Amino acid sequence: MNKSAIIQKVLSEFYQRNLDNELKVENNIQLARRKSPEFFKLEKQLRLLNFELAKCDNKIKHKQIEKQIDDIKKQIEIELEKINLTENDIVVKPHCPLCNDLGFKDNVMCNCLRKAINKKLLEISGIKKFEGHTFKDSDENVLNKSKNLKKAYEKSWEFINKFPNSKVKNLVFLGDVGVGKTFLLECIANEFINKDYFVIYTTAFNFSNAVINALTKSDYERETLLSPFIDCDILIIDDLGSEPLMKNLTVNCLFNILNERERKNKTYIISTNLDLEQLNERYGNRVFSRLSNQRTNACFKLNGSDLRINATKNKK
Ligand SMILES: [Zn+2]
Repeated sequence: MNKSAIIQKVLSEFYQRNLDNELKVENNIQLARRKSPEFFKLEKQLRLLNFELAKCDNKIKHKQIEKQIDDIKKQIEIELEKINLTENDIVVKPHCPLCNDLGFKDNVMCNCLRKAINKKLLEISGIKKFEGHTFKDSDENVLNKSKNLKKAYEKSWEFINKFPNSKVKNLVFLGDVGVGKTFLLECIANEFINKDYFVIYTTAFNFSNAVINALTKSDYERETLLSPFIDCDILIIDDLGSEPLMKNLTVNCLFNILNERERKNKTYIISTNLDLEQLNERYGNRVFSRLSNQRTNACFKLNGSDLRINATKNKK
């Protein structure tokens, strides 16, 4: 699913929500008519008065009708209360009065649509569970312990703020377990989501499972399953090297996806516990030459002391 497909999906959900809402209101009105003959009578009077008001061009008469309408509305409220309904149950009201649930006003995207798209992007991105991890949450004390990590944070922040005009297209973080790569990737993912980019965040393990699953399907299904990895604005793969390797399948697929993204000028961000030599050994030269390409990629080595171990040591 690409971004315009997501917008279409959200808009059709808006439309369906309005249809459901109208149906609910219609049912409530039928119920009120059945339960309260008085309501039925008042409703008819109200309709007639509204009709009269519309064609009335006498100011004084206009005021009088308006007053009558107010009175009828009050009586309707009382009748509705007797059968446990309120005015809100019998009037279709848009969720967003600014755009009347159209998603756009004066050709500008309304905030309600923006918010709904963002929510959908979060759901699809796979990062919903760490919604709160942001650059503001990163612990200064921890960053000060590792010069490399601090630099990686600063450069990532710069990358995000200059995006899509940053000098390099992709980021690669190399380093041992526990140096804080995953938290950094989560922060990056959240920043991009907040800027309305379509982000896919996946662990290499889940990525590999998704690829293997897709490869067992028909051509059409496979394309649908794999297209988010190619079409999303930012693809983030955490912990490359930790997944079980089916050489011909996963490596080929990883290569194809990286290649496609490069062709479409789209960004990927990858973290791995392997060093460059091990990456070359495991994924072969085609993948390695892409990941280590200094023209397009910024590589950060985060080896050094294990922050998680340090944190426990300090507590003792
Ligand atoms: Zn709106």
